[in-house]
Amino acid sequence: MSLVLDNLVKRFGATTALDGISFSVEQGQVFGFLGPNGAGKTTTMRIILDILRPDGGTATWNGTPTTHVPRNTWGYLPEERGLYPRLEVLEQLVFFASLYGIPRREAAARARDWLARFRIPNYERRRAEELSKGNQQKVQLIAAILHEPEVVIMDEPFAGLDPVNVSLLKEAFDEMRQRGTTLIFSTHQMEMVEELCEAVAIIDHGKLVLGGPIRDVKRSSGRRVVRLGVEGDWDLPWLSELEGVTVIRPGQDHVELNVAPGHDPQEVLNAAIARGERVTQFLIADPSIEQVFIERIGRPPSEEGHLAQAGSPSAEATG
Ligand code: ATP
Repeated sequence: MSLVLDNLVKRFGATTALDGISFSVEQGQVFGFLGPNGAGKTTTMRIILDILRPDGGTATWNGTPTTHVPRNTWGYLPEERGLYPRLEVLEQLVFFASLYGIPRREAAARARDWLARFRIPNYERRRAEELSKGNQQKVQLIAAILHEPEVVIMDEPFAGLDPVNVSLLKEAFDEMRQRGTTLIFSTHQMEMVEELCEAVAIIDHGKLVLGGPIRDVKRSSGRRVVRLGVEGDWDLPWLSELEGVTVIRPGQDHVELNVAPGHDPQEVLNAAIARGERVTQFLIADPSIEQVFIERIGRPPSEEGHLAQAGSPSAEATG
C-alpha cells in the first residue's frame, strides 16, 4: 500500500522541471518533501493530484495510476493559497466539502469541530478576507481535509504560521496520522522534518538526491556527529590531530565534531582520555537532516519558502 512515483519527467518549454524522479511513500507515513526553490516539489505534487500530466513516467496509488484514483482520495493544500474572500468561513468549508458529496449538516459539524481544534471557533461567520493570513491558512487546510481523504498533500503548510499555530498544526498532523492518513508535505524548515517525518525525499534540479526513512537518509553518508564536553578550558588543539575529525561548531558546554566515514567516533573519547581530559559529555549521533541537506545540495535549506508563497510558482524558480 503506497504511493509510487516512477521516473517522472515534466518539461515546461526549455525547462526540465522533473528529470526522472522516482520514490515512494508508504501508506500512513508522514513524509517530508524537501529541496531548494525550483527543485520540482510543487510540480511533483500537481502530477500526483492529476492537475498536471507528466511527459514521462507514472504515479500510482496502491497500484492504480493516480489519474484513475477517486478524487476524494486526496486532500491538497496548494502553494497558492486561495479562499473565496467574500464568503463566510463556514459557508466556504461547507461548499468545499459539497464538492466531495459531503452533505451540508455533516460538513458543518466537521467544520465546526476543526475550527474549534484550530482555536478559531468564533470565525465561522466571518468573511475569509477578514482573517489573518495564518488563520486563512488554517481554514484552507480544513477545506483540504474535511472530506477525510486518505492522503493529504500540503505545499509548505508551516510557512508563515506563528509558533502557536505551528503546534496546533502539529497536533492536527498527529490526529490524522493516528487515523492512518498519509501526510505528504513540502517544507524548508528542517526542524519540522526532524520532529514529524518518518521518511523524506530530497530533490534538486528535478532529480531525487536522497530518499527513504529518516534514519537511513541520515546515515547515508556514513559520517557521524560527536558531541564532546570536558572540564575546564576546552580549547582542544589535539582535536585537529585526529584523523577524519573536524569541528562543526563549539557549543556552550561542548564541542560538536564531524567524524568522517570509516573512522570510529569512539576514538575521540579514547583520545580525550589519553590526553588527561575529564570528559563531562560524550554523545554519538547521526547528522541532522539540515547537515545532510547542506552536504548533498551544497547550500542550506533556505527560508525563502515564505517568500515563494507570494509569487507565482514559475516566477520564484531559481533552478
Ligand atoms: P519552491 O520551493 O520554490 O516552491 P518547487 O520545488 O516547488 O519550488 P516547482 O514549482 O515544482 O519547484 O518548479 C520546478 C521548475 O519548474 C522551476 O524551474 C519552475 O520555474 C518550473 N515551472 C513550474 N511550473 C511551471 C509552469 N507552469 N510553467 C513554466 N515553468 C514552470
